[in-house]
Amino acid sequence: MQNLTVLGTGVLGSQIIFQSAYKGKDVVAYDISDEILAGLPARWEYLKKQYKRDIPDATDEKLDAAVSRIRTTADLKDAVKDADIIIEAIPERLDIKQSTWEKVSKYAPDKTVFCTNSSTLLPSKMAPFVDRPDKFLSLHFANEIWKFNTGEVMAQPKTDPKVFEEVAEFAEEIGMVPIRIKKEQPGYVLNSLLVPLLNAAADLWVRGVASFEDIDKTWRIATGAPTGPFQIYDTVGMMTPYNLSKDSPDPVQKEFARRLKEDFIDKGKMGKISGHGFCDYE
Ligand code: NAD
Repeated sequence: MQNLTVLGTGVLGSQIIFQSAYKGKDVVAYDISDEILAGLPARWEYLKKQYKRDIPDATDEKLDAAVSRIRTTADLKDAVKDADIIIEAIPERLDIKQSTWEKVSKYAPDKTVFCTNSSTLLPSKMAPFVDRPDKFLSLHFANEIWKFNTGEVMAQPKTDPKVFEEVAEFAEEIGMVPIRIKKEQPGYVLNSLLVPLLNAAADLWVRGVASFEDIDKTWRIATGAPTGPFQIYDTVGMMTPYNLSKDSPDPVQKEFARRLKEDFIDKGKMGKISGHGFCDYE
């Protein structure tokens, strides 16, 4: 699988494009307009800096070679015409994903394998919209894929096991550690583990069982983990947990949202990105 097409060049799409090109793949980057694609060179400059900081052998030569392997287009037919594999990283809306896959399926050659990077939508909700459900599955990345390099490969009931294995191998070729998820699971492995931990931490704090400092300290000391759950909230940023908790029917979750808003969001403490959250980062 040498020819990769990535649909969507936002936060995750741009990382998948750059990382795959860095690992020697020929990549076509597709987005809906030339104006959006015009922003990519600045994105590559940003990513080059991150790679130089985090990857000891990332030289200018290697990083420039990665950029030279990327072609951009806003023409979907042109984007998919030679693809061995397509990874879709477009907005998290089922209707947009389904209609995009329906179109892609008409234009892509028979050999092309289709992967979605969706974080919350199951691949079986999209597979009926393509002409080859046996070649449809999820390949899910974590944000900052060059260092947090899990590639969760998740089949849906119609995925051919051979294709599943090919995608796991592809993930490895682009520097990911493949995690084989053989049946559909909302949240894959990572979020299936992480979300209950974060919810339990919020529950202990909101009910006044312990301070957030002590909850994090317990987790770090007793398990050897480098960070506690509230430090993870800081990395995620305050808005995602706030949006998820504010409309919850659970009164503890609702109270968590209220405290996130009053104690943090309203004071500009948005987490690591702003320098302040549960912890200070300056
Ligand atoms: P984003 O909003 O940053 O980027 C989406 C991109 O898709 C934009 O460039 C947009 O112009 C483009 N787009 C919009 N409509 C399109 C269409 N019809 N066809 C092609 N491109 C279109 O979003 P993101 O954070 O990169 O998330 C993209 C996908 O990746 C989602 O499914 C999300 O669940 C998943 N994901 C995100 C993260 C994360 O941390 N952000 C992590 C893992 C997976």
